[in-house]
Formats: sequence, structure tokens, C-alpha cells
Amino acid sequence: MSLLPRSFDIKPGEKFDVIIIGMGPAAYSAALYSARYMLKTLVIGETPGGQLTEAGEVDDYLGLIGIQAADMIKVFNKHIEKYNVPAIMDTVESFRKEGDEYIVKTKRRGEFKADSIIVTVGVKRRKLNVPGEAEFTGRGVSYCSVCDAPLFKNRPVVVVGGGDSALEGAELLSRYATKVYVVHRRDEFKAQPIYVESVKQKPNVEFILNSTVKEIKGDKLVRKAIVQNLKTGETRELDVNGVFVEIGFEPPTDFARQNGLEVDNNGYIKVDEWMKTNLEGVFAAGDCTGMWLGFRQVITSAAQGAVAARGSFTYLTEKKRKK
Ligand code: NAP
Repeated sequence: MSLLPRSFDIKPGEKFDVIIIGMGPAAYSAALYSARYMLKTLVIGETPGGQLTEAGEVDDYLGLIGIQAADMIKVFNKHIEKYNVPAIMDTVESFRKEGDEYIVKTKRRGEFKADSIIVTVGVKRRKLNVPGEAEFTGRGVSYCSVCDAPLFKNRPVVVVGGGDSALEGAELLSRYATKVYVVHRRDEFKAQPIYVESVKQKPNVEFILNSTVKEIKGDKLVRKAIVQNLKTGETRELDVNGVFVEIGFEPPTDFARQNGLEVDNNGYIKVDEWMKTNLEGVFAAGDCTGMWLGFRQVITSAAQGAVAARGSFTYLTEKKRKK
């Protein structure tokens, strides 16, 4: 089984019933359902698996017990290959309506046409925006504990955040690092209690609550994180070589707006219960939408992808009937 989906022989200008933009769980699921609705489907995305590439073991997807994320992506590829859905790795720059159809413009492979679009572009990692963060990115500052934890074997690190990513990251890092500081701006956690409890059991983890990292210092590599208590104003210097920023994600507001998609107050793509956007024939699914904000799981993205495909199928069927 491959980590890369099969691309088949797709020619620029080719027309599809549905083009799915993105390649995370929502995209795979939308592709599977579209193919089962016998719609001619194309998937265009940058990274097979999307954010799943940054996960380790996944044990909360029903039926796939304790599966490694990489194996999950392989299974997803195998599943859409069974239905001969082509997928190409490229960046979608924009889409626009011309007459009755949408034109999807990619960075490298030209343009493709479709009657319907499913947008599953995901989210981008949020930054702390403090001095030293940009300078030391890749030299101690990381946004992915799961990807980089082994690089910090026998070194002290700090994890910033209080959500699932931070706590899951801290748990993993505690297996490699000498010391893990968890810096969180409140004294309550957004993370699932199972993660919080697990991290609390680790002897090499210290929680620093009601606090934030206000500066990162070093030479060639990170050497210190300056932490400030938000209640007392006191600062503390932590001797660390790694700063893991796990403070959530930003929605793809610019991409959405540039293509005429309405966004909600948080900047996520607005959808109805059939994952329909404000644009006729355009649906959205997964983390890029405002649906179920605060509960982002592989299974919820996959569910939204399936619903979007169903929405698209209904739209295309009605469109044909009206002709
Ligand atoms: P999140 O749930 O949005 O949590 C972000 C955390 O970072 C919050 O604790 C927040 O503090 C803090 N934060 C945000 N901006 C900050 C800033 N500028 N400075 C300092 N702290 C800041 O993000 P996430 O943990 O990355 O999770 C994202 C989604 O993925 C969630 O739906 C999560 O459930 C899901 N996820 C699931 C799993 C899993 O189920 N295994 C694993 C990882 C992620 P406040 O608490 O004060 O808001």
C-alpha cells in the first residue's frame, strides 16, 4: 500500500463532475462517496493525509484500532484506488465560475473543469508571534511534536498550549526529553481529560499555568524560553532546547474570501447542514469549515466529507433534471 494516491492520466482542461480541493480525511471520504455516487471525481491536494501526516498513533477512529497515521493514509489511498478516483498533488490557486461550470486553477498542472467543487483545504498552524519565534523556527522552535519529538532526546523542552495537540505532544515528548514544561495561558485545559491525566502522571513534566512564553532566546539553537505569569507579571527563564508551539490553527480565510466563499465570525467557511457554501454547487468539509468548531477529529472530517459528497450528488442530480 502506498502513501501516495494514484494520479492516472489526467489532462489539463479535463472536465469532472466533482473536483475535491485538499487531501486530508475529509477529501478522501468525499472522494469515496462521490465515486460511489458514480460521479467523475478528481482530488487535488498538496499532501496526502493533510494534518494526519503530523499524527502518530490514531486510536479514536472507529474500527481501526491503534493504527499508525501513516498506515491510515495508506488505507485511505487504497480505498479510493478501489474506485479508480484520480488524485494529483498540486496546489489549487483559485477557482472561478465560467458559464455553467467551475474552472479550478492549479499551480503546476494547469486548469481543470467541474460542475461541482468540494473544498477541504484544512487549516494552518497558529503562531505565538513573539520575539525569537521566527528566527529559531527549525532550530528548536517546532509546530509539530509528533514530527520532531525524537530530535529532542535527552534535552529539555517546553510545550505551549492547553488543547489536545499540546497535551498529546507533551505526553510524547516526555518519552524523549529530559524535562517537559507545559506552559498554558489558563489553569483549565481544553484538552480531553484522558490526555491531561496521562501527562500529569509523568515525573519529568512540569505544568506552568496562567503563563505564556513571551520570548525565545538562543545562539545557533534555542537556549531559553522566557515565560511570564499572566496574573503576577513575574517572569522565569527556562533552559530549554526546544519550544513546541501547539496553540491551535488558523482558518483559510484568505483562500475562502478570494474565491467568493462566505466565512463565519471566526473566519471558517460557512456551510449548512449539507456542507453547502454560499456558492452554487460548491461544498466544503473538514477543518476549514465552521462546523463542529472545537471538535476536530479524523472521524468528524470524514463524516463531513461524506455529507458534502451527498450534497454535491443531490445538486448535480437536480441540475441535470432541470436541463
Ligand atoms: P485548540 O483546541 O484550539 O487549543 C489551542 C490551545 O492553545 C488552547 O488551550 C488555547 O488556550 C491555547 N492558545 C491559543 N492561542 C494561544 C496564544 N496565542 N498563546 C498561548 N496559548 C494559546 O488547538 P489544538 O490543541 O491544536 O487542537 C485543534 C483541534 O484538533 C481540536 O479540535 C482538537 O480536539 C483536535 N485534536 C485532536 C486530537 C485527538 O483527538 N487525538 C489531537 C490533536 C488535536 P485556551 O484554552 O485559553 O483557549
